[in-house]
Amino acid sequence: MADCIFCKIISGELKGDIVFQNEHLVAFRDINPQAPVHILIVPRKHIATLNDLTATDAAIISEMVLTAKKLAADEGVAEDGYRLVWNCNRGAGQTVFHIHLHLMGGRAFGWPPG
Ligand code: AMP
Repeated sequence: MADCIFCKIISGELKGDIVFQNEHLVAFRDINPQAPVHILIVPRKHIATLNDLTATDAAIISEMVLTAKKLAADEGVAEDGYRLVWNCNRGAGQTVFHIHLHLMGGRAFGWPPG
């Protein structure tokens, strides 16, 4: 999608600090990290919000979570623990309207998140 910042990172038009990619998804470091490890896992397919998912997206959602698990291990935060966050729409804090899974680790996280 023309005006989507994550589509531009995926296409290479904008530079991202990419840590992993394959034919379905791209993972890159968050530009404003909220933890020592903060990676965004993003499908190549432009899907604006979680509300736009359909059953045909089941495989990519599953792959995003499994990729987060692998990257958490690669980044050395799997044993201590990590948080996965998915914001849906502005009320939940979504600012980029191309779905992305936040992987955060390397510090303690409270609950409830606030
Ligand atoms: P959300 O608030 O869930 O939509 O998360 C969007 C995330 O994208 C924020 O944590 C931003 O810091 C991050 N972000 C925005 N622009 C970029 C960029 N160019 N490269 C990497 N991360 C970005």
